[in-house]
Amino acid sequence: MKIIVCVKQVPDTSGKVAVKADGTMDRAAMATISNPDDMNALEAALQIKDKNSDTKVVVISMGPPPTESMLRECLAMGADEAVLVSAREFGGADTFATSTTLTAAIRKIGVEKDDIVFCGRQAIDGDTAQVGPQIAEKLGIPQVTYVTGIDYTDGQLTVRRELEDGYMTIKVQTPCLLTCIKELNTPRYMRVAGIMDCYSKPYTVLDFNALVDDPMVELETVGLKGSPTQVYKSFSPPVKGAGTMLEGADKATCEQLVSILGEKHII
Ligand SMILES: Cc1cc2nc3c(=O)[nH]c(=O)nc-3n(C[C@H](O)[C@H](O)[C@H](O)COP(=O)(O)OP(=O)(O)OC[C@H]3O[C@@H](n4cnc5c(N)ncnc54)[C@H](O)[C@@H]3O)c2cc1C
Repeated sequence: MKIIVCVKQVPDTSGKVAVKADGTMDRAAMATISNPDDMNALEAALQIKDKNSDTKVVVISMGPPPTESMLRECLAMGADEAVLVSAREFGGADTFATSTTLTAAIRKIGVEKDDIVFCGRQAIDGDTAQVGPQIAEKLGIPQVTYVTGIDYTDGQLTVRRELEDGYMTIKVQTPCLLTCIKELNTPRYMRVAGIMDCYSKPYTVLDFNALVDDPMVELETVGLKGSPTQVYKSFSPPVKGAGTMLEGADKATCEQLVSILGEKHII
């Protein structure tokens, strides 16, 4: 079987967020990391491979050429092959155009009966959680989102899907797409031997010409031109002011507190 894991390189939003003079995020000035949920997805794929030696794990990312460093890290963790989808034509894509391009690339890799596509639930920069489900739709395969548990035994896939107030256990047929969240597992570290090996593992770059034979891919359906939504304006939210202290433990103070919370639509 084959497992294709979609991994996105994102700015590290846990540190200092660099902002340009016009108020937009200065991505070039920020450190990049592998999107956290995607590392849980990769770990899940590697755990299936640990138990099923005939499993091939392919990591795929759409991004600029420096994304290679992240893909090499995935290879060092144990993935077998990496595919970078990269071309000027793909730049500025919204989730619709991103999922179109990734779907075409995944079709190029090939999705067979036993295969699974993994995504993270959400990328910490775009934060939409839309790319995974859109890829599943475009591939025409079932999807389960918010996965926190995976049992793959004798070709049978059973997953646990987290809900706000409980969970579902779902049996799902392959090929399918799962989006993973951090509660699923703890991603492994790269191994020293893995770091040595990662430069000799298969590494492919797919550009526009490599995907243009896909029926969904045209100059007008990818990148900025293929994006039904376009970010019109972005800005940093105003910094919160100092808190308000209410003194006293009497009824009037409590009523004042309730009224302030009501005004702010918190209650
Ligand atoms: C220059 C630029 C311009 C942009 N312009 C717009 C715009 O005009 N309108 C707009 O809506 N958005 C825009 N975006 C944001 C862009 O749409 C999102 O970054 C992208 O579509 C992915 O969505 P997301 O980050 O919300 O991912 P999510 O949907 O939150 O990601 C879910 C999962 O999908 C997979 N995934 C997502 N992206 C990738 C990827 N690139 N490679 C591999 N796997 C991936 C990962 O497994 C991830 O965990 C722009 C981004 C850039 C860099």
